[in-house]
Order: sequence, then C-alpha cells, then structure tokens
Amino acid sequence: MIYDWYCDKCDIEKETIESIKEYTGVCSCDQCGNDMRRLYTPTQIIGAEVQNPYYCHGLGKVVKNKYDVSEECKKRGVAQVGNDFTSGDKMEKTFEKQRREKLEKRYEF
Ligand SMILES: [Zn+2]
Repeated sequence: MIYDWYCDKCDIEKETIESIKEYTGVCSCDQCGNDMRRLYTPTQIIGAEVQNPYYCHGLGKVVKNKYDVSEECKKRGVAQVGNDFTSGDKMEKTFEKQRREKLEKRYEF
C-alpha cells in the first residue's frame, strides 16, 4: 500500500510504502518531526479515475495517476520511495531504516 502524508506546518507531502500489517497510522515529518496528516488520494476514494497526467521524473515518462506509477514500477522491478525510485538492496535498507526508526520512536513514549 502507498500512503500519502501531508505536513500542515511545512506544506510538504510524503509517500510511504507499507504493508497493511506494518501500517501504524502515524508518520512523522522529515523536516519538523510533527505528525503528518494522512491524505486519501482520489484513486483510493473513487477507484481508478483518471487524474491529470503529469511527468514523473523518477520514471522519465508521463503518467496518469499513482496506479500508473505503481504498474510501471512493477514492470521495471523498482519501488518508489518518496520521490526516488530504487530497487533491491537499497529498498530493503530504506525499509529497514524506517522500521528501526519507528521502533525507536515507540520506545520513547
Ligand atoms: Zn513538517
């Protein structure tokens, strides 16, 4: 699942990819550390409606929506992490780091 987050304070968006099992319902802003607000993208609300096509720099092509992006990722065997596209080892490391950070956060409370 791709989750979209928004920080009211910094006015930035962020995407995380987590399995439903891993999903914690919270996400901290990279810049200010505040809890980010979960965004529900139109695709998740109204299904596979076509959004405004946009040029995706990571993929180097025009895509219609997030579904397009994830399909393209699947085809290429890469994953989208934030605005970067990565594959294999690096992706695992990124996920591992996110997991560790989350665990550490939990212990702080
Ligand atoms: Zn912020």
